[in-house]
Amino acid sequence: MTPAPPSGELAKQVDVLIVGAGFMGRWLAYFLRGRDVQVVERDGFGYGASSRNAGFLTCGQISEMLADVETAGFDRVIGTFLERRQGLAIARREFPDLEVDPCGSVDYDDVTDAGRDLMGQLNAAADERVYTLRPATLGGREREAYFNTPDGGVHPVKLMQRLQQAAEGVRFAFGVKANSVARGEAELEVAGTTVRMRYNRAFLCTNAFATELFSSSEVVPGRGQVIVTSPVETATTRALGYINHGYDYFRFVDGRLLIGGGRNRFPGETGTSELRPTVHVREWLEQQAAAVLGHSDWKTEYHWAGVMGFPGGGHLGGSPRRKIDAQTEVVAGFGGMGVALTPLYAQRIAAEM
Ligand SMILES: Cc1cc2nc3c(=O)[nH]c(=O)nc-3n(C[C@H](O)[C@H](O)[C@H](O)COP(=O)(O)OP(=O)(O)OC[C@H]3O[C@@H](n4cnc5c(N)ncnc54)[C@H](O)[C@@H]3O)c2cc1C
Repeated sequence: MTPAPPSGELAKQVDVLIVGAGFMGRWLAYFLRGRDVQVVERDGFGYGASSRNAGFLTCGQISEMLADVETAGFDRVIGTFLERRQGLAIARREFPDLEVDPCGSVDYDDVTDAGRDLMGQLNAAADERVYTLRPATLGGREREAYFNTPDGGVHPVKLMQRLQQAAEGVRFAFGVKANSVARGEAELEVAGTTVRMRYNRAFLCTNAFATELFSSSEVVPGRGQVIVTSPVETATTRALGYINHGYDYFRFVDGRLLIGGGRNRFPGETGTSELRPTVHVREWLEQQAAAVLGHSDWKTEYHWAGVMGFPGGGHLGGSPRRKIDAQTEVVAGFGGMGVALTPLYAQRIAAEM
C-alpha cells in the first residue's frame, strides 16, 4: 500500500482531477500527461476491477455476442466489437514492448449456423479473418470451435504500473477518497482530514462505485470471482478459453489454470460491490476447472473477487460516459470489457480537450 500524502501536499487548484486509478483513470492520466493533472485513488494502488481481473486482451467471443445480439441488437454488437479492436490496437501501439501472451482465444460452445454467420459478419466488419473454426481440445476431448486469432493475455497489474510510469508529470495520490465532486470543487478525505480542491475538469473513473458519488450514474455493480490452481498438466488447448456461453472463462498463467465466472449461476452473490469472495462460486469454479483440465489432480492456490460496473445494469446496457455538470463527468461501467475499451475512451476524451 502506498501511504496517503500529507494533506498539505495536495494542490488547492488543478486543471484536471481524475478520481480512481484503475485502467480508466490511468489511461486517461497517460493521454493527458504534460498537463496539470491530479489522480486521487482511495486505495493504496487501485482496488476494484483492474487489479483483480483475468487479463484477457479480447475483442469478444461468438457465444456471448450471439446473446448480446438478442438483447442489444446487431449494430451495437458490431460497434462494440470494433471499439474493442480499436482499444486493443491503441494499447499495443502505445506499449509495443508490453509482455503479451499471443495465445488467441477459443469459444467452446457448440458451433451453430447463427455462430458461423456472425463470425462471417464480424470478419467482414474488421476486414480481417479474426475468427476461424479450428479443432481445439477441452478436458481431453477434441472438437471444432470458434477461434479468435488476435486475442491474448496480459498481466493486468504490470499494465497498470506501466501506465502510471508513462504518465509523466501526472501526480498520483493514493489513500485519498473523494467524498464529493461537482461544479469545479472536490471534497477529498486524506487520513481523516477533509481537503478542498478546485478543478477545471473532473473525471470520475470509479466504475462499480460510481453511484456512491452520483446515484444518477446508473452503474450497477457485478462481482466477479477467479481461482488459480497449482501448476497443472493438461492436454487442453493453451489459449484463452470460454465455456458456458462465455460466463466462465480461463487462461493458463505460469503453468497454472486461472478460471473465473459463475456470475450467472449465483445472481444473489453478484450484485454487490463487496470484494469478499464466496464459497459457492469457488466450488462452482473448481468444478469447471476439473472439466477444463480433464482431471482433479491439482488444488486451488488463490481465490479472489473484483467488482465490475455495468451501465444501466446490462452487458451493453448504456454508455460509460455521463455528464454531471459542465465541468464534471462520470466515465465508468465497462463491464467485462475494460481492458480493451478504456484506452479508446481515454484517447477520445483527451482528443476532445
Ligand atoms: C474478476 C474480473 C475479471 C475480469 N476480467 C477481464 C478481462 O479479462 N478482460 C477485460 O477486458 N476486462 C475484464 N474485467 C473487467 C475490467 O477489469 C474492468 O472493466 C476494468 O478494470 C474497469 O476499469 P476501471 O478503471 O473503470 O475501474 P476499477 O478498476 O474498478 O477502478 C475504479 C477505482 O476507483 C477507486 N475509487 C472508487 N471510489 C472512489 C472514491 N470515492 N475516491 C477515490 N477513489 C475511488 C477504486 O478504489 C478503484 O481503484 C474483469 C473484471 C473482474 C472483476
